[in-house]
Amino acid sequence: MFPRVILKGTMIKKSQQKKRTSPCNYKERFFVLDTQDLKYSERRPGKKPMLKGCIELSRIKCVETVCTDIPIPCSYKYPFQVFHDNHYLYIFAPDNDCRQRWVRALKEETKNNYLVKKYHPNLWNDGKWRCCQQTEKLATGCHMYNPEGCASKKPLPQLPDPEMELHDSGRQVVIALQDYTPLGDDDLPLQKDLEYLLINSSHSEWWAVQDERGNTGFVPSTYVAEKSGSNFERFKWYNKHINRAEAEDLLMKEGKEGAFMVRDSRQAGVYTVSVFTKAPGSNGEKNPRVKHYQIRQTETEQKEFYLAEKYLFSTIPELIHYHQHNAAGLITRLKHPVSVGGCSEEAAEDQWEVNPEELVIGQELGSGQFGLVLDGRWRDKKVAVKMVREECMSDEDFKEEAKVMMRLHHCKLVQLYGVCTQCSPMCLVFEFMENGCLSDYLRERKGRLSQDTMLGMCLDVSEGMAYLESSNFIHRDLAARNCLVSSSNEVKVSDFGMTRFVLDDQYTSSQCSKFPVKWSAPEVIKYSKFSSKSDVWSFGVLMWEVYNEGRFPYENRSNSEVVESLNAGLRLLKPRLVPDSVHVLMEWCWKEKPEDRPSFALLVHELATLTDTDL
Ligand code: ADP
Repeated sequence: MFPRVILKGTMIKKSQQKKRTSPCNYKERFFVLDTQDLKYSERRPGKKPMLKGCIELSRIKCVETVCTDIPIPCSYKYPFQVFHDNHYLYIFAPDNDCRQRWVRALKEETKNNYLVKKYHPNLWNDGKWRCCQQTEKLATGCHMYNPEGCASKKPLPQLPDPEMELHDSGRQVVIALQDYTPLGDDDLPLQKDLEYLLINSSHSEWWAVQDERGNTGFVPSTYVAEKSGSNFERFKWYNKHINRAEAEDLLMKEGKEGAFMVRDSRQAGVYTVSVFTKAPGSNGEKNPRVKHYQIRQTETEQKEFYLAEKYLFSTIPELIHYHQHNAAGLITRLKHPVSVGGCSEEAAEDQWEVNPEELVIGQELGSGQFGLVLDGRWRDKKVAVKMVREECMSDEDFKEEAKVMMRLHHCKLVQLYGVCTQCSPMCLVFEFMENGCLSDYLRERKGRLSQDTMLGMCLDVSEGMAYLESSNFIHRDLAARNCLVSSSNEVKVSDFGMTRFVLDDQYTSSQCSKFPVKWSAPEVIKYSKFSSKSDVWSFGVLMWEVYNEGRFPYENRSNSEVVESLNAGLRLLKPRLVPDSVHVLMEWCWKEKPEDRPSFALLVHELATLTDTDL
């Protein structure tokens, strides 16, 4: 079918600076959006239009307006961004209405794509993101992306009557993170570090606020941060008006290892995490007991949050999310959120509980750590069903975690559809992957894998992992055996986080025979310190597996010999098939210090750049 034209018009485009050395320029282009592509061409009087660029809509991951305080160096002043293939295209519209038309239309056409979860509302400038100060261009965004919602300032929510609002109790105060110069008449200027009263935050991009003189107007929501914690109320773990004794009472009653809550400390503006544990205390503390940890903030300009050890986060929900997966200095991982009113647990449960009547189980596919894996059908979908043997899995913990895992969606992750707890044994229902696990796939195709295929496999895995990294989710057992291959030969990451529920000690302690020492970073072997950077190490080993067509790393060596050679600074040898450019990345993943290793976001960028160039 012929593509249908949706919008066309002249706007200004900033060069995409795909190469670090390319100059920055602004050029007038004639843009055409149709149902397949966004094209732009140069039109000069008396000359034939010349096509200068074409972006397939299916490659677009985010379209959004740009809010910036940086002076715009071209005559059209209303920027928006199109993020595709790891490149940012900035387009400048002549007026806000025109900008909104394009953003709305592009969002509509791309809403079913694999989109980013978060985006950068401001520009990349002077080697960092102006909105969040991150210094990696491909760092995950800092603001939730809403593919449905339009960042339009029109129609704006009605500004409530300020007189009436002042009588409203529980008003929230926000602090300006940076100055804001109004773009329109209904905007309010912001001055960095001043406080404003939040009047209306129902619109995702533009919040109505009031300054100390009583002036009201709209400001970009990314330019302000909430001061009080009342915005945590949507989280099940937050209890506003609870003191230490009441918290202890509630958590003792709950009585589950890792039951926790976040509450306001006596000190205004400070929060405490209270957590129940049965673990023996080091200095004769009574058992079971509730431990309290104050959420601290760094003295640095960015004021990041942390708990027992310095794992820093820009928001409290991110910090809690991280500690729900990692004890990282706490007596236990934060496992079961507890709140005074209780939460509609049932509602959440419904979404992950698979009805056994809807599940048809078929032939055996293989067997793994937890038991048999069979193919099956669920709601018209072909699925893989893992039957979990009771003695193999800590299933109470897993059920909690399954809810988190089901919220992870990415085209390069094997999707968990749900859990059937009513079946015996309990079943986990996953997306079906026709071509089985990556390590077998590689071995079966030995000698027939092209350079493009191998690089594509590494890129696929890095993309899935970059998503886990951005969700603060640690895989802990990344290896070719834990990736699966789809019917279209795409590689997807599987079994993320699952090692935490294995009951066999031989798997869980780094001293034991089944622990994946050969894929583990030194800090994991020494102190069980897992992080996204320890996943990066494992990813280096996975790349090695790919370029060795499924060979086992350190084939003839025992775990202790491997540890010895790592300690001596030795690394896996360069595979015969690997190009230098990819080998450099592998070695980068195996840097001794986690902080010297690249992030997955950066690895995606590097691998994607290699796929564009000749190796
Ligand atoms: P476990 O996580 O219990 O160790 P595995 O994930 O290793 O189990 O699965 C064992 C085997 O089952 C795999 O090698 C693969 O052949 C098959 N398998 C697992 N998950 C899927 C899936 N989603 N689609 C198709 N086959 C699968």
